[in-house]
Order: sequence, then C-alpha cells, then structure tokens
Amino acid sequence: MDLFEYQGKRFFARYGMPVSAGEIAFTVDEAVAAAERLGTPVMVKAQVHTGGRGKAGGVKFAATVEDVRLHASAILGLDIRGHVVGRVWIEKASDIAEEYYASFTLDRSAKKHLGMLSAEGGVEIETIAEENPDAIAKVWVDPVDGLDADTAREWVAAARLPEAAVEGTVAILQQLYTAYVDGDADLVEINPLILTPDGRVHVLDAKVTLDSNSTFRHEDYDAYDETQTRDARETAAHARGLQYVGLEGSVGVIANGAGLAMSTVDVVNQVGGRPANFLDIGGGANADVMAGALEVINNDPAVRCIFINIFGGITRGEEVANGIVEALQRVDIDSPIVIRLDGTNAEEGRAILQPHLSDTLRMAPTMLDAARTAVALADEEVDSGQGSVQ
Ligand code: GDP
Ligand code: MG
Repeated sequence: MDLFEYQGKRFFARYGMPVSAGEIAFTVDEAVAAAERLGTPVMVKAQVHTGGRGKAGGVKFAATVEDVRLHASAILGLDIRGHVVGRVWIEKASDIAEEYYASFTLDRSAKKHLGMLSAEGGVEIETIAEENPDAIAKVWVDPVDGLDADTAREWVAAARLPEAAVEGTVAILQQLYTAYVDGDADLVEINPLILTPDGRVHVLDAKVTLDSNSTFRHEDYDAYDETQTRDARETAAHARGLQYVGLEGSVGVIANGAGLAMSTVDVVNQVGGRPANFLDIGGGANADVMAGALEVINNDPAVRCIFINIFGGITRGEEVANGIVEALQRVDIDSPIVIRLDGTNAEEGRAILQPHLSDTLRMAPTMLDAARTAVALADEEVDSGQGSVQ
C-alpha cells in the first residue's frame, strides 16, 4: 500500500521524526483556510502516488494566502504522470541549506535491509545512481541486529554529510529504521532530508509503502486502503473480493490458489504468450466466484483469450465444472476460453463440461497444452484484427 506524502509524514512523526506542521485540503477554500491557520509562508503540495511532483508543477511555495489560492487552484485537478490531484497538503515552508536522501528497503538477495544515504538529495535516487553512484552510501542491516548508533554514525560519515548534520541524521536514520521495521513497511524514503540554515535536520518529503499483509497487526492501516490508486480492472476485482493483479498481456488467467495462479502466469510466458493478469479465485470456485472472475477478465479490453486453470482439491471437479457452466450462462464472454481441469473428480467434471465445448470453449488435458492453445487463440484473435494491437 502506497501512502500519500502527508500520510507518510504522519507515520514518520509517530516514530519521533521531525516533520513540518501541515493540513490536508480537498478544495481551494480548505487550502486557504489551512494556510490562514498555519501562517504563511507555506508550501502547496499535490498529493499523488507518484514522485517528481516538483518538476510537474505540483509543489509550490506560497508567500501569501493569495498565492495559496492561486497555487491550490492550479494544482487541484492537475494530471501528474497520469495521477489526477484530488488533495493538497499545506505545510509551513522550511528554509533549506542542503538536501539529502535517505531510505530503507529490503535487499532480498542479501536477506538484509538495505539503507541508502546520499548527500545529493532532492533528485531521484535513480538519477544519482546513474550519474554519481559513489555519492550513495549503502548499509546492509541484519534484521536480527538492527541499526545501532555507531553503525549509523559510520554510515553518515561514509555519505560525507557535513558535521552540522551528523547528529540529527543519525537520530533520524535510527527512527526511520524503526518505522520501517515496526511499521511493516516495504519502503521508506525521505527525499529530501534537509539541513536548515539554523542547523536542524528535518524531513521534507515522505514516500512510504506498507506491506498490505500486515494490516492485521495495525488496525489503523485499513484507512489507507481507501486511498490506493488501482486501475479500473483492479478496482472491479477488489470489489468482488478477488485476488487480482493487472498485467500487460492478452491471455486472461483464472486459477484456484495463488501458487497455481502464479504457475499459470509462468506457463503462459513459457509458451510465448503474455498474461493479462494474475487472478486467484481461492479454493471455492463456485458459480458466483467464477462469474465474478469472468466478468472482471471479460471487461479487460486487452484480453484475447481466457485460460481457466483449476485443480480440484477439497472442491471436487464436478462442483467446479457446474460452477463454470452456470457462470458462462450468466456472463456474455467476448473471448475464447480454454479450460484445464484436474485433481479430485476431474473425470466427472470434464464429463459435465464436454457437451458445452465448442470452438470458443475448449478443454485441454494438461496445463501446458491448455497454455499453448490459449496463447495460439490469443494470437489468432490478434491476427484476425479483432481489436487494436499495440
Ligand atoms: P517531489 O518532487 O515529488 O519529490 O516533491 P518534494 O516534496 O520532494 O519537493 C520537491 C522540491 O521542492 C524539494 O526537493 C525542495 O527543493 C522543494 N521544497 C519542498 N518543500 C520545501 C520547503 O518547505 N521549502 C523550500 N524552500 N523548498 C521546498
Ligand atoms: Mg521528493
């Protein structure tokens, strides 16, 4: 789950990190009222789930309340890399002497947390990594040991931060690490972390991604769910309670169980196709769930063929087959379907499907056969000029 900057700052503040006072506003009038309460000068900052807001005109300095009105009017509704601004964060403006970069994320191959720190903040880390990789000081933290003050101090020295910034940065890095671990975050990033002319180190921007599987440990995280940016397909799937991830290809995938769904995505790739999605319908596979899944996939204009891959476990083959048949009567499907049904009572299930088979509803004996057929059908659909191909 991605947090907006203001949510990220509130999250950081809970762990003791210094952030600016601010208020969230959904309208120009709210922005003005917030600025009046806070006192100018303030920053008017677009809240969207993407970086580079400054460059896109989404971060403005306002010396007066009139400036706030002007900037809030311009920023609300602005499209920043495909994200339309629906709320602005008004915060007390800070004076900046220097801008740094700090972050934690997981390094899976090292099996450690990776901290990155640079004295060259304010630009994106990818840019620093490309143009001046030596300017990034990295530290790998063993999750068992955590980050102690000595290690943090060495790390700050390696990043060559000025003396004035050392103590403040050491404290913030430790707080940032605690927020990252205790808060179950996948990423915490401060860019820029600033040194003010009067010698304080301060958080000026916040990028936080939380592990959505950790919500059971953090009751308040449910509130972030409402503000997630999902594409239309993901929104529809989410509303139906389906485990869905949108992908770029043309083969719609429906499978029962996350492991099988991932294998299905893999096998489609293996035979030269491209999956349009990951979709796990869970163990049940009854008509309601199947109809919901088919609807979501059918509404994806990129889909040219649907591959239903079911392995009967506790759910028996004939129940699954009846579910599929009933779902097909309810949903008007635009693309050909290939079914692979195996597992408990697969024979009985296949017998139920048999009379319904046609050119556009096929069955294949194995997962690999089904994937080949599905990919071939998807390609045919493309060749025959149905729909546009990018
Ligand atoms: P981003 O462009 O989405 O990363 O948004 P940031 O919050 O990082 O803001 C972009 C830039 O605006 C920062 O790197 C700063 O240079 C500048 N900026 C943000 N807040 C302030 C502030 O309070 N005072 C001043 N002087 N500049 C700011
Ligand atoms: Mg930034």
